[in-house]
Amino acid sequence: MIVNGVRIVDPFFTIKSGWMDFSDKILSVGTFDGNTVPSDLILMPGFVDTHVHGGAGYDFMDEDIDFDKIEAHFFSMGVTSVLATTLTAPIDKIKRVTKKIKQRIEENEYTPLVGVHLEGPIISPKYLGAQNPKYVVIGAKENVQRLIDGYEDTIKVMTVAIEQCEDSAIRYIMSRGIRVSVGHSDASFEDFKEVHEFGVNHLTHFCNAMAPLHHRHIGLVGAGLFFDDVDLEIIPDGIHLDKDMLSLILKAHPIEHIIAITDGMRATGLDDGIYDLGGLKVRVENDSARLSDGTLAGSILEYNEGLKRLHNLGLSLNEIAMVSSFNPSNVAKPSTPKGRILPGYDADFVLMDENFSIRKVIKKGKIVYSI
Ligand code: FE
Repeated sequence: MIVNGVRIVDPFFTIKSGWMDFSDKILSVGTFDGNTVPSDLILMPGFVDTHVHGGAGYDFMDEDIDFDKIEAHFFSMGVTSVLATTLTAPIDKIKRVTKKIKQRIEENEYTPLVGVHLEGPIISPKYLGAQNPKYVVIGAKENVQRLIDGYEDTIKVMTVAIEQCEDSAIRYIMSRGIRVSVGHSDASFEDFKEVHEFGVNHLTHFCNAMAPLHHRHIGLVGAGLFFDDVDLEIIPDGIHLDKDMLSLILKAHPIEHIIAITDGMRATGLDDGIYDLGGLKVRVENDSARLSDGTLAGSILEYNEGLKRLHNLGLSLNEIAMVSSFNPSNVAKPSTPKGRILPGYDADFVLMDENFSIRKVIKKGKIVYSI
């Protein structure tokens, strides 16, 4: 199949008017051959959300999930790869969810699910955010083993409060090929520096659920800005991070280490109202989801809208492709290459207009969304 006369945006190059030939993989890419009138459509690698809890009425923690529906919801936002993100819950329940996601990946060739991001249950009681305190556990190696053993290929990221963790537990997670992300944590700059030395380089929803930067205690926010090689998850909804803070982060940190996420909860794509998040009551209104005390409880950000906000703050389309696809693909570690418009990469891509409205979404060469 061929797409013709589109603007091709890869993280590292742009073709103003080009074509792409693809099957389930991208076969070849080139400049416009002159037979088709160029359209104003932009072709980019499909978006990769490495931190999202649900949408379209479903939470990945639910016992019953209509996977077709939640997947259609992701595709409608241009998201072609997802790390299903769990919440703090009893370990057995988290394992059941992981198993279910693993099965879905095995059974559906076109699922956007590529793995699991375990968020909790090893988190700080001080920075719970909207995680349920009832199920928080200490970071003993034994708890970590219970959570991940047997699912090393499915779990790609685990968010932990490092100060609650035994060193051996952190090293165990890493030894299984799973990325440790620091979040929901009261860790100091020194705490982070120690684990950074042995390879921890990821911060969960940067600035959220961690101490704010103090000039004598720069903490995790300071660590994220200090170490250039640390991947920073950012939620570009204009609420979790003020737009000026977003600009500051983008100015201070290498774009190669920015990961756009939504942290989306079940109400994403639905109306305002009262929803459940891991057993906690959440009110959705004014573009945000909050507990009764005002604590943010995930977002209702649609992925492409977040990218539009980042573009308006000055990121080029190439940089957008980097933070939405190339960088998060390195985190999600899919079994086949994604995140670039080059021969050999999966034919996972988005056709959108300049306003970031999604027109068509292709997953492994198949049209999965079209308006
Ligand atoms: Fe969180």
